[in-house]
Amino acid sequence: MKKLNGTVIVTYRCNARCTMCNRYKAPSLPQEEISIETIKKLPPMYFTNVTGGEPFLREDLRDVIAELRKKSDRIVISTNGFFTDRIIALCREFPDIGIRVSIEGLENTNNEIRGLPDGFKRGVETLKKLREMGLKDVGFGMTVQDKNAPDLVPLYELSNELDMEFATASLHNSFYFVETGNKIYDRPMVAQNFENLVNRLLQSGSPKKWFRAYFNHGLINYIYGQERLLPCDMSFDTFFIDPYGDVMPCNGTKDKEVMGNLNRQTWDELWNSPEAERVRSVVRHCSRKCWMIGSVSPAMHKYIMKPAWWVFVHKFLRFFKKKKYSMYEIPACCDLRDGRVTAGELDRLGTCDPKAIANDGLKHGE
Ligand code: SF4
Repeated sequence: MKKLNGTVIVTYRCNARCTMCNRYKAPSLPQEEISIETIKKLPPMYFTNVTGGEPFLREDLRDVIAELRKKSDRIVISTNGFFTDRIIALCREFPDIGIRVSIEGLENTNNEIRGLPDGFKRGVETLKKLREMGLKDVGFGMTVQDKNAPDLVPLYELSNELDMEFATASLHNSFYFVETGNKIYDRPMVAQNFENLVNRLLQSGSPKKWFRAYFNHGLINYIYGQERLLPCDMSFDTFFIDPYGDVMPCNGTKDKEVMGNLNRQTWDELWNSPEAERVRSVVRHCSRKCWMIGSVSPAMHKYIMKPAWWVFVHKFLRFFKKKKYSMYEIPACCDLRDGRVTAGELDRLGTCDPKAIANDGLKHGE
């Protein structure tokens, strides 16, 4: 059986109060969250992201991870890093898992955006402790918006000092975030900070960072409302499963798209069902253009020649022509700068719709 890339949303409960995500207002109930029995039915995976909500709110997370390790070559847990002791205890038992702590900027910015008192200190402390324990796969995750864009490069520098991974994202609207009104207001300022990061990444000696540079170039393209740089193949060899056992293509759709339910079906029934085919056709015609690592990383592997060529050209230009990467390689950046398009017109290419009612994807009254 072909191994897949899966994301398991173990809970919709969250102890943080992030400004760009309303999920904490629409939590799942502990008794209805995906059970170990359902997790046992998941297919073999080459990569699994465990996320939430805040996964460490689940008291049986240890059992969830124990089951997933039987199925997956690599597991990374996304967390806000607040529950240091629980994270350390889990990583002692499973030292080969990865941990990504969401940190939204330097101390004040992070605490303001995430609404967690002392969130920055606790997050960084957790990461440092994990490093001291010898955990290899640890790092930061940052969702870039107007408020924290100036902290992007300083946070990258901090992750380098601590010898940690640094993953980025930008604002998205979807049922998963229970949000329809997220948008970037000052595109050139945010893009300038991404441009600085791309150049830092390209300067490094690490091929992994060069490909991250490409991903961040794609984020500039995304915030200008442009078509994805790579096709989206979610639901073909990638899936998300939510706390209710509903299997979905991704977490970027406006309303929840359901391929089937693993509480009630076997994996093969679900994956080969007419509903799953219907969802695949939705994905083929999807106009959301999102650029999140969950959908981009598989695409970068599958369509490797495009990012590889970009990396080659930009490393080549940098070293031999001393020319840096510029966001103005993206035509839309020039169009806005030169007045050929307005910020309002670019807004209409994005997914922000403050008047829309956010569908939370919960099972109301079932
Ligand atoms: S572009 Fe892909 S990841 Fe984004 S909502 Fe559409 S199908 Fe999902």
